[in-house]
Amino acid sequence: MATIIDGKLVSAKVRQEVAQQTAVLKERGVTPGLAVIIVGDDPASRVYVNNKKKACADVGFYSEEYAMPADTTMDQLLEVIDMLNERPDIDGILCQLPLPKHLDEKVVIDRIDSTKDVDAFSPVNVGKIMIGDYDFLPCTPAGVMELLAHYGISAEGKRCVVIGRSNIVGKPMGMLLLHQNGTVTICHSRTKELAEICRSADILVAAVGRANFVTADMVKDGAVVIDVGMNRLNGKLCGDVQFDTVSQKASYITPVPGGVGPMTIGMLMKNTLKAAKLHHGIED
Ligand code: NAP
Repeated sequence: MATIIDGKLVSAKVRQEVAQQTAVLKERGVTPGLAVIIVGDDPASRVYVNNKKKACADVGFYSEEYAMPADTTMDQLLEVIDMLNERPDIDGILCQLPLPKHLDEKVVIDRIDSTKDVDAFSPVNVGKIMIGDYDFLPCTPAGVMELLAHYGISAEGKRCVVIGRSNIVGKPMGMLLLHQNGTVTICHSRTKELAEICRSADILVAAVGRANFVTADMVKDGAVVIDVGMNRLNGKLCGDVQFDTVSQKASYITPVPGGVGPMTIGMLMKNTLKAAKLHHGIED
């Protein structure tokens, strides 16, 4: 039976460290500030935004929410971003995705000042990650790396397989494992012989968005299995990995819920703290 990787525990540790460092910054007159923009009334986005605001309060950040109606125009949204870009008390700007269809996410993300782009989605920050010289890492892949580090698991020299190639999870995940000297394969919906490739993995990361997609026959004995998926099956939250069977084969595994999920907000807090330090010329 695999060791269960406890995302709640590691996330709490990350947040505690952020809270401690925030207290020190506050003594120097600096309060990290995060602005969260939400457009429309998607219920899942509302839950995420509420969780982010609560996390800010818990670590001692200042936070602001801009709740904009679903029929917000590009000009109106860009105007808010421009205003937040100029504000010295705002260190991080986060625009909750997905946006309503009539709004161009790429343009919106690109408009956020790259030093305030705490999601690390902007082309500037993505480029910096590619060359390995970055200030921020995207929160979910960074959270996975933090989990691996906490459990003493390094990608160095390991065969790493990532299923999924989205810009926010799969691609940066592959890049971070590569930076740690893993030998990385990124799979997607057109990949042939997926099961065979997965079976070669020492570290297998599933970011597909399909319940029970990864089955035990796709997993090597002793592999580390990281489940990024967040799916609803019969009303219940579950990941991409068939937990009951895969956990019998893996050496380490993340559960859903309680694995990667809690890490994402912790890493957002870490990025916002870093942004505040950058803006005030404070060494990390
Ligand atoms: P996405 O943009 O929909 O990407 C899914 C990826 O899976 C795509 O690259 C797709 O390939 C690939 N895929 C789909 N079907 C496949 C198949 N049959 N075989 C191989 N690859 C297949 O999703 P995402 O935003 O990356 O998110 C992935 C999952 O992680 C979702 O469940 C999401 O809810 C979850 N998530 C969790 C967190 C967290 O905090 N835990 C954060 C973000 C996302 P193509 O590119 O070829 O279409």
